[in-house]
Amino acid sequence: MRFDSVPMPPAVEARPRDTRGYPVPAITPWEGDEPQFARTDHGRSANCARRRLCSVCDTVMAPGPVWRVVGATESAAIAGALAAGRPYRNLAPTLEGPGHRACMLYASMVCPYLARPNARRSLTADAPDELTAHVVRGAVRGELGAVVGFGGFEYAVTAERVLFRFLDVLEYLPHDTADAHLAELRAELDRTGPGQRR
Ligand SMILES: [Zn+2]
Repeated sequence: MRFDSVPMPPAVEARPRDTRGYPVPAITPWEGDEPQFARTDHGRSANCARRRLCSVCDTVMAPGPVWRVVGATESAAIAGALAAGRPYRNLAPTLEGPGHRACMLYASMVCPYLARPNARRSLTADAPDELTAHVVRGAVRGELGAVVGFGGFEYAVTAERVLFRFLDVLEYLPHDTADAHLAELRAELDRTGPGQRR
């Protein structure tokens, strides 16, 4: 979806913008005036991990649950574990840091790299416009991924990378269309208000 057709959490509203007005996530590196959306900045990501800052809006996350957007493969694994009544353990560490619930709901609909984590690792960065509604409508439920709430996370900062591991699935919100979480995001923003506690 176009970023300006989705309500912005206040802390996202305050982010620097690219030339289109697109809010730039906290962990995105810049080259001059150009944010590099397809990449994750090591220093920025490490700073978020160490200070418990949201990887989207760069403000602190309260103790307790954290959220992230997972891709199709991990979404299917979580759905399978939940259906079987098994605990889900993300044993493979990821480069994707956690964030606020509202920020991740927003990012899942607006940011093609967060919505499709694999895109971030590809050498040819997909154009953001590629994730258009007509492409994704009609997809199998959860096939695009999910916004997932976790009980906690661990991280490791190495010379090369910042790695995250997430524990205890508390909430699983799969998306099958680009605007799947619009109502949930509106409700979350009403609930948390301008202070955005979570
Ligand atoms: Zn945030």
